[in-house]
Amino acid sequence: MDLSLTEDQAMIQQMAQKFAQSELAPVAQKLDSCGDRALFLSNLKQLAELGFMGLNVSEQYGGAQAGSVVFSLAITEIAKACASTAVTMSVTNMVGEVIQAVANQVQKEKYLPKLCSGEYAAGGFCLTESGAGSDPSSMKTSAVLNDGHWILNGAKQFITSAEFAGIFVVWAVTDPLAPRGKGISCFLVEANTPGLSISAAEDKMGQKASVTNEVVFNDCRIPQGALMGELNQGFKVAMTELAGGRIGVGSLALGIGLAAIDYAREYVTQRQQFGKKIADFQGIQWMLADAYTDLEASRLLLMNAADKKERALPFSKEASMAKLFASEKVNKVCYTALQLMGGAGYIKEYPLERFARDARITSIYEGTSEIQRIIIARELLKEIN
Ligand SMILES: Cc1cc2nc3c(=O)[nH]c(=O)nc-3n(C[C@H](O)[C@H](O)[C@H](O)COP(=O)(O)OP(=O)(O)OC[C@H]3O[C@@H](n4cnc5c(N)ncnc54)[C@H](O)[C@@H]3O)c2cc1C
Repeated sequence: MDLSLTEDQAMIQQMAQKFAQSELAPVAQKLDSCGDRALFLSNLKQLAELGFMGLNVSEQYGGAQAGSVVFSLAITEIAKACASTAVTMSVTNMVGEVIQAVANQVQKEKYLPKLCSGEYAAGGFCLTESGAGSDPSSMKTSAVLNDGHWILNGAKQFITSAEFAGIFVVWAVTDPLAPRGKGISCFLVEANTPGLSISAAEDKMGQKASVTNEVVFNDCRIPQGALMGELNQGFKVAMTELAGGRIGVGSLALGIGLAAIDYAREYVTQRQQFGKKIADFQGIQWMLADAYTDLEASRLLLMNAADKKERALPFSKEASMAKLFASEKVNKVCYTALQLMGGAGYIKEYPLERFARDARITSIYEGTSEIQRIIIARELLKEIN
C-alpha cells in the first residue's frame, strides 16, 4: 500500500496551495464581511484559468482530467484560505461531472468548455426545495412536455452560486404517478431563460461570500433537447452525483479545520501565561494532539473515498463516512482552536470565529450527518443480505 501522492498530484496540490495563500487568504476576511462580489468573481475566474473548475472533466471538453484525489486535495487547499470560494468551486466541479456523466455529446460540447474555462462563473445544482431537503424524492417542481418544449414550474431552495451560474442542472417531476424517485428527470437550463428568476441571496451564518439563492421556475420553457440523461431516471443521477460531491464537502471541512488549528498552534507557542508559553502546558498539548489526530483521520477517509472513485470502484459508503467524520470533526476542531486562543479567538480581528462559522454548514449541506448515517447503515446492511 502506497499512500504517497504522484508527482502530478503533488504538483497540482502545490499550485492550489500557492494560489490560495497568495490570492485568497489575504482577502478572505474582507469577502466574509463585505461580500465584494467583483473580487469574488475575479478569484473564480482565476481558478478556472488554472483548471480548477473542471478538475475531473475530460481534456476533450476543456477540463483538467486530474482525477478525484486531486479534486479533494485542491478543495482542501482552497478551503484553508477561503471556504466560500471552495464551496463554489466544489459545486461547479460537481455540475461539470454530472454533465460529463449523463449528458449527450451535443450538451457536453455546448456547456462543459464554458464551465471549465470560467466563461460561466459557476454552475448551479438545483435539487433541494422548501418541502424536499433530506428527502429530495418528494420534490414538487414539475416538467411537462408541451409542443416540443418542457415547461418547468416550481422553486428550488438554497442553491449555491445561483446568481453567478451560467448553467443549472435541475431536477423535476416528469411522471407524478410513478413510485417515489421513479418519475424524476434531470434538465439543463441556461441562466437567462425566460421564466427562470433568482431571489436575493440568503443572509447566512458562514461562507458568506458564496451566494445562496432560491431559483424559481414560472412557466419556464426549455427545448425538448434540454433533458439530460434518460426520462424518469434523474433521481439515480442525483444520488450518484451527491456521493462525489460529499468528497468535496469533506475535503472543504478538512481545509477549514487545518487552517483553524494551524493558526491556534502558532498562537499557543507565542502566548505566555503563568510565566511560560501556554504550549508548554500538557492540557494544551493534548488539545492539539486530539485535533490533529481527528484531521489526519479525516484526510485518510477522504483519500480512501477519492481513490475508490478514481478507480471506478463503489465509493458511496466511503464518501458518506468521510463526509460524516470530517464535517463533524471540523466543528470540534474549530471549537478547540478557538478555545486555545482564549478571548482573542472570539474577536473578528482573528480568523478563528470565521472558521467556526464557515465549518458549521459542512455537516448539513449535501446531506446532513443523519442522512450520511442512513446511507452508511444501508450499505452495511446490504453487504450481509
Ligand atoms: C448554504 C447552503 C447551500 C446549499 N446548497 C445547495 C445546492 O447548491 N443545491 C441544492 O440542491 N441544495 C443545497 N442546499 C440544501 C441542503 O443540501 C439541505 O439544506 C440539506 O440537505 C438539508 O435539508 P433541509 O434543510 O430541508 O433539512 P431537513 O431535511 O428539514 O432536516 C431537518 C433535520 O431533520 C433531520 N432529518 C431529516 N430526515 C431524517 C431522518 N430520516 N432521520 C433522521 N434525521 C432526519 C436532518 O438531519 C436535520 O437535522 C444548501 C443548503 C445551504 C444551507
